[in-house]
Amino acid sequence: MELLSVIVPCYNEEENVFDFYHELMKNTLFFQERELEVEVWYIDDGSKDGTAARVKELVAQDARVHLVSFSRNFGKEAAIYAGFQKAAGDYAVMMDCDLQDPPSLLPEMFSYLGQGYDSVATRRVTRKGEPFLRSILARAFYRLMNRISRTEIVDGARDYRLMKRCVVDAILSMAEYNRFTKGIFGWVGFETKWLEYENVERKKGETKWSVWKLFLYSIDGITAFSTAPLALASIMGVLFCVLSFLLIGFTIVRKLLFGDPTSGWPSLVCIISMISGVQLFCLGIVGQYLSKTYMEVKKRPIYLVKEEI
Ligand code: UDP
Ligand code: MG
Repeated sequence: MELLSVIVPCYNEEENVFDFYHELMKNTLFFQERELEVEVWYIDDGSKDGTAARVKELVAQDARVHLVSFSRNFGKEAAIYAGFQKAAGDYAVMMDCDLQDPPSLLPEMFSYLGQGYDSVATRRVTRKGEPFLRSILARAFYRLMNRISRTEIVDGARDYRLMKRCVVDAILSMAEYNRFTKGIFGWVGFETKWLEYENVERKKGETKWSVWKLFLYSIDGITAFSTAPLALASIMGVLFCVLSFLLIGFTIVRKLLFGDPTSGWPSLVCIISMISGVQLFCLGIVGQYLSKTYMEVKKRPIYLVKEEI
């Protein structure tokens, strides 16, 4: 028998804990045919509702279910990492608790592993049911990210992935503090099969991601997988040098021809304020990287466990 570890990050998902379990276990026949044992790891990311209590009820019913509770909310990335650390399986799969990652896709995903792929990833082809602003910003982020990073980050990719042990070990070897899972998957490589499906809307409860939270997350993603913004400062510096030489030439010529040295005060103010804006912007970029480095250097644990069953 081989073992499949199912990793489920949950943050305030009390309504979904049971639904998810039942949906997953609809694959029981497939698991038997494929000679797979299953373990389910619910990672309770510091939920403030009854999520942990619900999972404990499941643990009492089914010995294959496990719970790890964090001491506070550490974010989905930390939950995913904890799940990978706990997973003992020959295969591991990550799924959201809200059933947006349909467990019914598992048999198809396993069929691709049989064809020599190391991991099977999913991507949604539509963003149906998602707020307009969110879709636009998400698209813009992926376009920018793929232009400035060498790591491929697929638009619409979900965190729903099935992978072999070798991929899990590769991901575990990346013990960085600022975790951007979508980038980490791209970075480790391996043969990946992409499965496409229509967006499924969340069954119950609300999304845990506001536009602002997503914006901060996108900055994490950019600083974690690209250093291109740092080069921006140098490029702009060179551009402004060229511009200033042109302006010096222009001023000298104008002085010689027309002899009018004192005019140009408004343009001077414009130039000064613009360049100081650019300088502060560049300084801010450097600050972003510095702060990430600072957090990385501290080597704080990625998560803290309050309880494990
Ligand atoms: N999640 C988490 N910690 C967080 C935020 C979310 O573990 O701080 C979990 C959440 O419970 C869900 C999954 O991550 O299982 C995806 O979250 P959500 O459905 O809110 O995001 P969306 O699907 O809207 O992008
Ligand atoms: Mg969701």
